[in-house]
Amino acid sequence: MKGIITEIMRFSLKDGPGIRTTVFLKGCNMACKWCHNPETLALAPQLMRYPDRCIGCGACLAVCEHGAFSENDGVAAYDPINCVSCGACADSCFSGALVMSGLEMSIEDVMAEVLQDADYYRNSGGGLTISGGEAASQPEFTTALLRAAKAAGIPTAIETNMLAEWPVYESMLPHLDLVMLDIKLSCDAAHKKWTGVGNKAILENVRRISETKPTIVRTPVIPGVNDTEDEIRNIAGIVRGLKNIVSFELLLYNPLGESKYEALGLEHLFKGAKPAAEGQAERLRAAAETAGFPVKVM
Ligand code: SF4
Ligand code: SF4
Repeated sequence: MKGIITEIMRFSLKDGPGIRTTVFLKGCNMACKWCHNPETLALAPQLMRYPDRCIGCGACLAVCEHGAFSENDGVAAYDPINCVSCGACADSCFSGALVMSGLEMSIEDVMAEVLQDADYYRNSGGGLTISGGEAASQPEFTTALLRAAKAAGIPTAIETNMLAEWPVYESMLPHLDLVMLDIKLSCDAAHKKWTGVGNKAILENVRRISETKPTIVRTPVIPGVNDTEDEIRNIAGIVRGLKNIVSFELLLYNPLGESKYEALGLEHLFKGAKPAAEGQAERLRAAAETAGFPVKVM
């Protein structure tokens, strides 16, 4: 069995307790307008272009058999209409101007990387986190990877938006130690406006999974979307009614994804947006603490 992976990040400290290896899967069933990993939204591999790194060697022109590159004043001009995302140009571009996002890997390939840091997981209370995109976007692969990790004695976690059908999560539960899930907005209509889907089914899944597994609730704090004390207090009210909550985390807006939108040729609605300033972040923390659980602002 193979999955499509965008990145395997070793020594991650932000994707659950301890030192972790985070496997980022490609594919997401939501379309959050602020997504800071836009290369993970589509399931299929994609070519990302960073023209400022181009050294004009012409290797991409020579290797592309689909006519996606043409020469224009000594520069390789790209036409996405002809690109079939085969990756040949990225393989021959040594300046890093062309990068393929999405690599097929087997469970064995991924586990070989994960197992390299087994001692660190043991000593720090860490383990494997499957993220994305959406951890449930490739459900059979995720379940098989969780099973393989548990069989090797590695603690497991997923980062999920909880939008998949409940049986998808049910099949993961026997191999899962920790769930990190998002509650992005409290209101169904606003959730639909900003992510493309309402939150009713999500909140029902959140309630069910938090009855069975230790759960970290995360809220990405997005300027102009949910960055008010009222809204964080509303979300905290939902969290307060859940069981097995380890912590409630506010993830301040991360502008690092902006260059990725350009590399994919996508428009970014939040270009130039700034994370909450210190004073506002502290007020939001106080609002989050009304949930009655430990709060982290990250
Ligand atoms: S292979 Fe890379 S560096 Fe060379 S011309 Fe193409 S994009 Fe530029
Ligand atoms: S990914 Fe393949 S089809 Fe697309 S530009 Fe590169 S070589 Fe051509």
